[in-house]
Amino acid sequence: MAIRPHSWPDYDVIGRELRSRGFGDKCRFCANNGELWFVSTSHKLKDEQGRTRCPMLQAYTCPKCRACGLNAHTKKYCPTNRR
Ligand SMILES: [Zn+2]
Ligand SMILES: [Zn+2]
Repeated sequence: MAIRPHSWPDYDVIGRELRSRGFGDKCRFCANNGELWFVSTSHKLKDEQGRTRCPMLQAYTCPKCRACGLNAHTKKYCPTNRR
């Protein structure tokens, strides 16, 4: 494939490539925040154990329960909502 230095790679091609390598879950937190695609596809929002992997979300503290770091979530996904 020819290299075109002045255009971004085709997102669909990259996305398919990433999915085939198991990176299908792009980070929805970054995507919703309008981060560039290579930021939001560079990590998952959460790992298999449900721990927050997103560095942007890890830096966020939940205003409802003060969770941050590996337990970070937005207030929409706060466990205190489920009561
Ligand atoms: Zn993220
Ligand atoms: Zn919370």
